Amino acid sequence: MVFEDRNKGILSNQELMSAEDRKKYQEDFLKEIIKHAYVAGTPLKKTIDSLGLSPADIGSIEDLQKLPITKKKDLSEAQKSRPPFGGFLTVPTRDLARIHQSPGPIYDPVGNVPDYWRWKTALYSVGFRAGDIVVNTFAYHLTPAGHMFEEGIVELGGVIVPTGVGNTETQVDIIKVLEVTGFIGTPSFLMAILKKAEDVDLKPRKDLKLEVAFLAAEMLPESMRRRFLEEYGIIGRQAYGTADVGCVSYECPEMNGMHIHHDVIVEIVDPDTGLALPEGEPGEVVVTCNNKIYPLVRFGTGDLSSITTATCSCGRKSPRLTRIMGRVDQVTKVKGMFVHPSQVQKVVEAHPEIAKARLVVERPGDQDLMKLEIELKGAVAEGFVSKVEATIRDSIKLKGSVSILEPGALGGEHKIIDDRRKWD
Ligand SMILES: [Zn+2]
Repeated sequence: MVFEDRNKGILSNQELMSAEDRKKYQEDFLKEIIKHAYVAGTPLKKTIDSLGLSPADIGSIEDLQKLPITKKKDLSEAQKSRPPFGGFLTVPTRDLARIHQSPGPIYDPVGNVPDYWRWKTALYSVGFRAGDIVVNTFAYHLTPAGHMFEEGIVELGGVIVPTGVGNTETQVDIIKVLEVTGFIGTPSFLMAILKKAEDVDLKPRKDLKLEVAFLAAEMLPESMRRRFLEEYGIIGRQAYGTADVGCVSYECPEMNGMHIHHDVIVEIVDPDTGLALPEGEPGEVVVTCNNKIYPLVRFGTGDLSSITTATCSCGRKSPRLTRIMGRVDQVTKVKGMFVHPSQVQKVVEAHPEIAKARLVVERPGDQDLMKLEIELKGAVAEGFVSKVEATIRDSIKLKGSVSILEPGALGGEHKIIDDRRKWD
């Protein structure tokens, strides 16, 4: 079967909305969600009342900042005190399609509507097409992952083989016999399957029909992505979502960030103040979804990212999350800017001469000072230190010095960011 070009096409006209139309579209559903959640007596009603506000006071995306952020921990506590859904569910439990339990524990209700978690648009954007036969290697019990992606593929006109986790050899058999064209799962599991195929004397590129992979739940190194494509002929793309809210954003063929789904309002906020940060600055991803069944308003994902509204050549007009930089609870604030271990990692990746690195933050006077201590693999060319300093400025957006240590000085297990500031 020949598939519609996996690198072209846009599924939904809503991905083409101008910034202005998009804002209007989102504010229209926001007003509906707020009113609906208030009338249904969800915890949002108590919040709005206690702030002396009324639902009409939350009419714009900016107005959202009047409301507190609901963290995963808050959701879990609310569910414990008001089981099973913390009062957030606005329909009778018997009207649901499924109920999942994700770690926390948190109960995740699934409404009886097609593509409840919004993955269809994302799966098209990453390259799946009608007619694809897809192994879904995410778990199908308790947590929602397996079902979430299955629904998106089925809505798109694809066929799902629910293989779940593990059984690498069986997976290879299934992929061969059923002429499977798509894979859903983690990058490392796809690599394990391809290796297993080679172990049983198959040539994945020739003997298997795999063309496209949706990779999630794990970091995807660019080197691995290239290998999937160049060695095995498989397009590998990513998306971002959570068990609580479903799809948030997804890559397009340009792979330069993840377009935000039109039915999700994303704010990037300072995790300390809950206030929105300007474009480009990293902060916590806070989402409000177009979901009346289980309306979570300003749900704090605990993940760090930043937004760009720069034009994307794929044609989609939606802004993008640049990438997920890690978890909010791992960040350090230096000169008012967030610094995350993944940013330090980026500096190391940019300079293969570096064997190990540790970012030291000190405050000798009333100024924060940042120093990257590195161990080298061998000799380096002249000007190396200033090149690393330039990468620090680029990646961390702050000035930092570089000091080269003797091999072994950093030890085996060391902190990537060592905050030595004393605040007393
Ligand atoms: Zn794009």
